[in-house]
Amino acid sequence: MSKQNKQGNAPVQKNEIIDVTFEDLTHEGAGVAKVDGYALFVPNALPGEQAKVKVVKTKKGYGFGKLLEHTKESEYRVEPPCPIYKQCGGCQLQHLSYEGQLDYKQNQVKNVLQRIGGLENVTVHPTLGMEDPWRYRNKAQVPVGMEEGGLVAGFYQQRSHQIINMERCVIQDEANDEAVSRVKEIADQYGIKAYDEKIHKGTLRHIVARHALNTDQLMVVLVTKGTELPNKKNIIDEIRQALPNVKSIVQNINPKRTNVIFGEQTKVLWGEEYIYDTIGEIKFAISARSFYQVNPKQTKVLYDKALEYANLTGRETVIDAYCGIGTISLFLAQKAKHVYGVEIVPEAISDAKRNAKLNHMDNVDFAVGEAEEVIPWWHTAQGITPDVIVVDPPRKGCDEKLLETIIKMKPERVVYVSCNPATLARDLKILEEGGFETKEVQPVDMFPQTAHVECVSQIIWKGN
Ligand code: SAH
Repeated sequence: MSKQNKQGNAPVQKNEIIDVTFEDLTHEGAGVAKVDGYALFVPNALPGEQAKVKVVKTKKGYGFGKLLEHTKESEYRVEPPCPIYKQCGGCQLQHLSYEGQLDYKQNQVKNVLQRIGGLENVTVHPTLGMEDPWRYRNKAQVPVGMEEGGLVAGFYQQRSHQIINMERCVIQDEANDEAVSRVKEIADQYGIKAYDEKIHKGTLRHIVARHALNTDQLMVVLVTKGTELPNKKNIIDEIRQALPNVKSIVQNINPKRTNVIFGEQTKVLWGEEYIYDTIGEIKFAISARSFYQVNPKQTKVLYDKALEYANLTGRETVIDAYCGIGTISLFLAQKAKHVYGVEIVPEAISDAKRNAKLNHMDNVDFAVGEAEEVIPWWHTAQGITPDVIVVDPPRKGCDEKLLETIIKMKPERVVYVSCNPATLARDLKILEEGGFETKEVQPVDMFPQTAHVECVSQIIWKGN
């Protein structure tokens, strides 16, 4: 490698045309090729493919290219079934067969565990995928705009704020597609104006539809700029007629200039404040703003695996760190003596407590706070010594202080649910150095057609 490359300077120049081989995919689904160790990101390229590429931008350490022509195509390449796949950007892997996607995700976990975690011999199982990897999403959040013909609802064109109308989304539950289309038509018919972010005027910002897979209950949320909603009564009546399984129609008010979808205030316009869904035996109440896993079928697969790895007999004390609305906590509480859940968002903990009551479970306690602060306090001040710790952190992984506490507490097992293999690998390395051993890792495909990789790992205490 030349001295220049070591400093991250580009070995290629803008507008240069080169032949490359792709080795990997980015989180955005672009192909990654290496030129003398320098990474070049190229949309629409798959691992194993070769192509002529034009360099379009170079930066220190990495650059971007445009694919001109394939010289070798991947055997896994397929025609994306969605007609707006390229414009939308919501999916990144529709041009890769589902078999290819599952293989890619398993390899991605293996490679990252080796490269970042130095974990050479860990078993990484084949990815658990869906029988039907389409129409799995239980929530649609669709921005609303105006065209000459009236209201449009769909998605922001990539890198712009132009809203493109969309009638169907191939990864969305059909009930949500239908709900969004009908609500858009009804609002249009009653002269509702879309919110215009440029002038911060208008009424309807987003249409949100949530469909509970296992109970078939539907919630419709109209996100508006102000409290006013002209023709409210007629709109409610028409929505109820058009969507017979609707159980909850609510208005959320977001008066701010922001990309954040929801505002602080929510009003029930008709029906219930909550809809209900089940995962396995556990029932969950879902409000307009509640966090809830978007792929309920695969959530069951993921949590069953977490439960298997926790290996509970009914005698164990368990901590669920980063517990959200307590989904994993309640799942574990079915088989544990006691579960303690901790989560930083107060509303999520309110939901968790409500869900515990709903299921008549009294062997769970929830606390609001940072896992890395609350868990050491539980341990030293309250004498809570867990047999099993489950962590399910956000993409940035576990706080180092939490990992140190886990090493001090020496639970028999740690179950690590991760949405980012890179931080998983980093954290497993720390746990291994602290006396733990990673037994196995199971990737679960929570988001088919996208580049998201989720996995659950079992880590055991090796003893002093
Ligand atoms: N286990 C849950 C959700 C996990 S998502 C489920 O399966 O549904 C990660 C969660 O970690 C989010 O709810 C986020 O609010 C929370 N979080 C982020 N940083 C945290 C911290 N330092 N301490 C506790 N919770 C945190």
